[in-house]
Amino acid sequence: MYHDLPSDTSFWLFLFSIDQDLAETTRKQACPCGGRLHRADYPRKPRGGPDDLPDQYGYRVSFCCDRDGCRKRTTPPSVRFLGRKVYLGAVVILVAAMRQGPSPRRIRELSKLFGVDRRTVARWRIFWQEHFPRTPFWKVARSRLSPIAKIDALPRSFTEAFLRHGDLQQGWGKLLLFLSPITIAGGLEIKA
Ligand SMILES: [Zn+2]
Repeated sequence: MYHDLPSDTSFWLFLFSIDQDLAETTRKQACPCGGRLHRADYPRKPRGGPDDLPDQYGYRVSFCCDRDGCRKRTTPPSVRFLGRKVYLGAVVILVAAMRQGPSPRRIRELSKLFGVDRRTVARWRIFWQEHFPRTPFWKVARSRLSPIAKIDALPRSFTEAFLRHGDLQQGWGKLLLFLSPITIAGGLEIKA
């Protein structure tokens, strides 16, 4: 069953290591003003993960320009946090996907597994089916997944495309990396 998260801590550390690479790439690019980027992380309290979620999940890496008069923030993309959503990115994908398909999991079961309630799951469904398909990211990225990814099947199309074959941990890494452009400021904005 690929509709699952790897259960061991190494999975969460693996995602953290991808985030560290993404952060290092961002840091090297420096601020558009030419200033250097200094760490200025955001504290986070992500929900939906296991009880032994590593301490590194208590913050999201972010940077601040060191030049007076600029001090602009730059937050790298993430495979752990889906924008401002409180739940871990993988959980926002997985729970919504589990509600789809021929035998959707019951809310009661999902609540027990991830601590989500009916309203939260309903919000995620609207997010994946109505908001996300209208983002500039998806308009470009969908061609890379088609014809597998039908909008009415999002986000299940993602789990089908990335998690069906091969190593589950690597599959999740690739899926979350694919979606990581929507995790930065403006990534989920819809321009008219
Ligand atoms: Zn700057």
